[in-house]
Amino acid sequence: MQRRDFIKHTLLATGAVALENCQPKDPYAPRKYEGQIAIIGAGAAGLYAGYLLEQQGANYTIYEAAEQIGGRIRPLKGLADFDVELGAEKIRGSRSTLYDWAKESGASLLPTSGTDYYQIGTLLRTEAQWNTDLDFRLAMLLSQQARSYSGNETTLAQLMESTKLVSRVRHIPDALIANNYGTSANRLGLLGVAETEAIWSAGRDNYLLGNRSLLSVLEEKCKSVIPKVVLNKQIKRIDFTNSPIVLEDAQAQRRFADKVIVTVPLSILQANDIQFTPSLPETKLTAIRNIGMGAGIKVALVFNRRFWEANTGSIYTSGSVPEYWVSSAGRSTSSFVLSGFVTGERAEALSGQTSTVIIQNLLKELDTIYGKGTATASLTNAKVMDWGKEPFIKGAYSFPIPNGGGLLTRQTLSQPIQRKVYFAGEATHYGGHSGTVHGAMESGRRAVEELLRDVV
Ligand SMILES: Cc1cc2nc3c(=O)[nH]c(=O)nc-3n(C[C@H](O)[C@H](O)[C@H](O)COP(=O)(O)OP(=O)(O)OC[C@H]3O[C@@H](n4cnc5c(N)ncnc54)[C@H](O)[C@@H]3O)c2cc1C
Repeated sequence: MQRRDFIKHTLLATGAVALENCQPKDPYAPRKYEGQIAIIGAGAAGLYAGYLLEQQGANYTIYEAAEQIGGRIRPLKGLADFDVELGAEKIRGSRSTLYDWAKESGASLLPTSGTDYYQIGTLLRTEAQWNTDLDFRLAMLLSQQARSYSGNETTLAQLMESTKLVSRVRHIPDALIANNYGTSANRLGLLGVAETEAIWSAGRDNYLLGNRSLLSVLEEKCKSVIPKVVLNKQIKRIDFTNSPIVLEDAQAQRRFADKVIVTVPLSILQANDIQFTPSLPETKLTAIRNIGMGAGIKVALVFNRRFWEANTGSIYTSGSVPEYWVSSAGRSTSSFVLSGFVTGERAEALSGQTSTVIIQNLLKELDTIYGKGTATASLTNAKVMDWGKEPFIKGAYSFPIPNGGGLLTRQTLSQPIQRKVYFAGEATHYGGHSGTVHGAMESGRRAVEELLRDVV
């Protein structure tokens, strides 16, 4: 398929366009399905698939391995005086059902519009302040170019090498691009990045929710779905040889369904944590291998005072955590919370350490930036969330690997099998919104549409 045709087809198929066009009508009305549908996973994709099936009066059950719903959306109460997000926190763009739901729920949507700061050596300055530093300017230019890269496949690390970007500023593209995409500079395929950036259609602004958690928005909208979730039910085997499909859980108990929507993280498929009978087609197994997903750690540091500049957006560092942002901005006037996010090799290195050691080291690094002892002396509470160690998540989110085949690979991953097994979840989004909550929801919609199309 030509790239232009693929993009056009993709925008329609992933719901990125169809979503808006279809909103006034009910696209599902004539497609009532009487069979039993099983959804595996109660993250954003699974819950939204349930929501759409609920609208249809369809029979469905959601099986969730963990003891709570939400998957990679997990608010934590009690750490600060607002719910601190240990997973997804920002609504990426304003053109999505997630954004609309947040608005409808009365959440205050706070654009993340502060000033960004960049560390080079021990100095922390804004882009304007670093403007006379030619190395910094090259690092920023290269970050921009990486987003629209064309040519032979390369990693971000190779691009930095070939442009002779000096080491004192290499952490900047690494933080702005690779860490944001969920990995390290040497693991990120830039053709996949450019393709993703070109097709992104949700809008460029990011929003924090001022007065509530992301999960509470989903819970409110999916009120009638939640009773259909069976928690602590890890599905280990899906046998779709005959009808009905047999689902076997970790206790070897069997459940039956006519159709299954699998929404588990890519890493769960990569680890073969679910055994499919018959086995998945070779094309899908190749797709599973050709998309990346690796370590990811989020750290929330709660302080009793603000020692960073007012109106700080992100703080990009050369330390163990490439990016921090102010999670408490607009949410609290008495808790001051910096959230840090690290993925890829750096997250793997931290993952071997205890939370106490990680926190001590991060405080030391912040002390170097903000002055002797400042961060250490102001800390009141902290939490390290290692997503790679979560048994049913096993990583951060999916990213394009070098020569991975880009969005076409994600489309292959999303393909249903025998009109029985459907695939959703952020990694299956082939319209540029992988690695996001709204993308996961759109993938849930796509899978439900495929399923309903098969039964009319
Ligand atoms: C630290 C971090 C920060 C992020 N920040 C943002 C952000 O700011 N904005 C944004 O838009 N996105 C962000 N993301 C990405 C976003 O969280 C995900 O893209 C999205 O939540 C994925 O939803 P999902 O439904 O595809 O998968 P998941 O949320 O992972 O849901 C899958 C579910 O399947 C369950 N499961 C796994 N195996 C089984 C099994 N065998 N049987 C039954 N159930 C099973 C899991 O427990 C899980 O609940 C972030 C992710 C991380 C990790």
